[in-house]
Amino acid sequence: MSLDFNGKVAIVTGSGGGIGKGYALELAKRGAKIVVNDLGGSVDGTGGSLSAAEKVVEEIKAAGGESISNGASVTDMSQVEEMVKQTMDTWGRIDILVNNAGILRDKSFSKVTDEDFRLVLEVHLMGTVNCTKAVWDIMKEQSYGRILVTSSSSGVYGNFGQTNYVASKSGVIGMTKVWARELGKYNIRVNAVAPGFIETDMTKNLPEKVVQLMNDKVPLRRWGKTKDIANAYTFLASENASYISGAVLNVDGGVVV
Ligand code: NAP
Repeated sequence: MSLDFNGKVAIVTGSGGGIGKGYALELAKRGAKIVVNDLGGSVDGTGGSLSAAEKVVEEIKAAGGESISNGASVTDMSQVEEMVKQTMDTWGRIDILVNNAGILRDKSFSKVTDEDFRLVLEVHLMGTVNCTKAVWDIMKEQSYGRILVTSSSSGVYGNFGQTNYVASKSGVIGMTKVWARELGKYNIRVNAVAPGFIETDMTKNLPEKVVQLMNDKVPLRRWGKTKDIANAYTFLASENASYISGAVLNVDGGVVV
């Protein structure tokens, strides 16, 4: 099975750290040119200190790869369009979009504020809409594209204290299925990955009690690593997955069966 991405251009949102960074490094190792998008990076690459995105770019370049950073917020369509323009101006095509950027504002439903509810929807749901919309016509014109969407095991089975997050993560599954149908004839595949509990910044400060509860839920008796998600995305973005579209791949140690 070939997992070669030479000549391919990929945008990975929220890839200054965590799952996105893991995937950006994996794709770059396999030959792809990577746009490392992460909130907070300086859009034009200037500034006194390196942003998280710029550090990942440096790491890719040091290993012999090609990469640029971008600081767009996925919630802002004009910034997203600018990111896509930056990519097209640099490399002239976009083969892979990974919608990965995310945040958490967990609270039980009676306590969650309207603001926190909307913010989570904005980043996960509208962020995925904005980025996908911005590459849509480009991929159609190329007659080639791989759009990857990051859901969550919470989006598949629900989770206490996460109405906002679950609404977003089940919403992106719905969109994945629609887009797979709308884009199938253009040789564009759209698939989602639903990670379980993965060791990243997002999960590092959870209370011990919550961690214990989560541990008990994982049949394979370990939390996932960013590499586990990168492996799933690598397969789904490859030619080997050309007959798979609209799928949701659970990468969660057996939590969702
Ligand atoms: P992470 O380490 O916190 O990484 C998320 C990244 O997204 C951060 O680098 C963050 O940048 C960036 N980001 C946030 N808002 C953004 C915006 N508006 N525009 C652009 N970038 C933005 O989290 P992670 O665990 O790797 O999560 C990655 C994805 O996997 C998320 O969609 C998450 O919901 C999903 N997921 C994670 C788990 C898990 O257990 N970790 C499980 C299921 C699903 P800043 O740091 O600069 O804010």
